[in-house]
Amino acid sequence: MRVEGIPASPGYAEGPLFDLEQPPTSYKARASAEEEKVALVSAIGKAVDRLAALVESADGDAAGILEFHIAMLEDDALSGPALAAIGSGQPADAAWRAALDGEIAGYEASDQDYFRARAADLRDIRDQVLRALSEAGEAAGPPGAILYGEDIAPTRFLETDWSEGGGIALKRGSTASHVAMLARSRGVPMVVGLGDEAQTLTGVALLDAERGGLIFSPSPAEIEAFRQSASSFADRRGAAKTFLAEPAVTKAGTAVRVQVNIAYPSDVDGIDIATCDGVGLMRTEFLFGKTLPDEETQYRAYRKVLEWAGDKPVTIRTVDAGGDKPVPGFTVEETNPFLGLRGIRLSLARRDIFRVQIRALLRAAIHGNLKVMFPMIAMPDEYAQAAALFAEEGVALAAQGVAHRLPPLGIMVEVPSVALAPEAFADVAFFSIGSNDLAQYVMAAARDNAAVAHLNTVRHPAVLRLIAAIAAFGRERHIPVSLCGDAGGDPSAIPALLEAGLRDLSVAPAQLAMAKAAIADVSV
Ligand code: PEP
Ligand code: MG
Repeated sequence: MRVEGIPASPGYAEGPLFDLEQPPTSYKARASAEEEKVALVSAIGKAVDRLAALVESADGDAAGILEFHIAMLEDDALSGPALAAIGSGQPADAAWRAALDGEIAGYEASDQDYFRARAADLRDIRDQVLRALSEAGEAAGPPGAILYGEDIAPTRFLETDWSEGGGIALKRGSTASHVAMLARSRGVPMVVGLGDEAQTLTGVALLDAERGGLIFSPSPAEIEAFRQSASSFADRRGAAKTFLAEPAVTKAGTAVRVQVNIAYPSDVDGIDIATCDGVGLMRTEFLFGKTLPDEETQYRAYRKVLEWAGDKPVTIRTVDAGGDKPVPGFTVEETNPFLGLRGIRLSLARRDIFRVQIRALLRAAIHGNLKVMFPMIAMPDEYAQAAALFAEEGVALAAQGVAHRLPPLGIMVEVPSVALAPEAFADVAFFSIGSNDLAQYVMAAARDNAAVAHLNTVRHPAVLRLIAAIAAFGRERHIPVSLCGDAGGDPSAIPALLEAGLRDLSVAPAQLAMAKAAIADVSV
């Protein structure tokens, strides 16, 4: 019996199912409210220590996520209500659970994928502290198991031994969650959105995270077919590794630049700069987490990436808050956030915040080969205003004697108006196609809605025609054009992108090898 879901990290796993839904931990309440408060505070401290120990051995993304958890645990906004409930007579475990469940419910009710995905982080934090309270250990799945349940906590992922295979099958979950990001960067197969189909959890199951499905109680014929697909995938992935160290070229000998997309400065720790042509997109929204980062924090983050890249280019995008990436304290409530005040529109509306980022970028520019681009540009005037702010801040820094440099300024091509009428943008330094948004706006299909995922494809002739038009405009006017949407790392989209005239792609680091292998197979 096969249940369909959405692939979140490609691969195959065959193994016993392990139920992620753990029985509740048992906790013996102390005598007084004061003792209960001490018990909760010390459990939170233990959870923080445990996370801090994990940070030591974690790399890039993982360390960033764990640090985010530590910051949340140390935030009084979570412990305050729980301590107050203890004061009015509740035991520590019930008080903590109620406080966190209230927060989690709020996140789960959000109609935005980003916030729903953060509910998994909060559940993780809740359970870490409950475990510390009851001093219960972690129930680990058997090696090679497929972890199956509602959702999975990032720490649970990090504490699982994946050396013998295994995978993750979630009834709900999201491809935008932190765990999905970790699974992709570690190559752990993962499928989300399997739904509630009641199934027996005994025996072996088959996880097909290439097409997105879970087979319960498989027949011998199903096992046979599954193993063939799994071995063909393993062959493709193994063969792809040999492409990593070499520059990408097509079968016909055409060179293609392949850069990487990053979100956290620590992402670069796990990447060998020799395997890529630079950073084609650094999304800066993730620096804008719970609080708005100050100039110094941003400067250090940008400088780190620039120094890592040496003389290779690093394209940093100014903050693209809004849409599926809300930032508390910055973005506004809207009925249709994808068509609202997001990206450059919001930055120009909140210049106080934008100017801080501009100064950090101007100062960081002296440490490498920086390019800056603006997201969600629809009109030439938006580019002109943003460029004028860079010039103004440059003059102000010069007046203060602060070292800085004005980087080349380009734009994302992700709003159809730019792709349809590019002649209005002949003065930008470069174009970078955001195929995720371009496809959603051309096809009128939200990128975070699984029900319309079949419509949201760059391979539709309408989207490809726009990509080809921008590539041709760039060639004609000598303006470099690249593509940094997820399609750039998708082997099934790469032939069409190269045929549309693109020679510069930027992909998720985990997709680098497969993307180069796919390029080598194209005859353009
Ligand atoms: C895109 O839209 O394709 C893109 C690269 O930007 P983001 O996914 O961050 O919106
Ligand atoms: Mg975009």
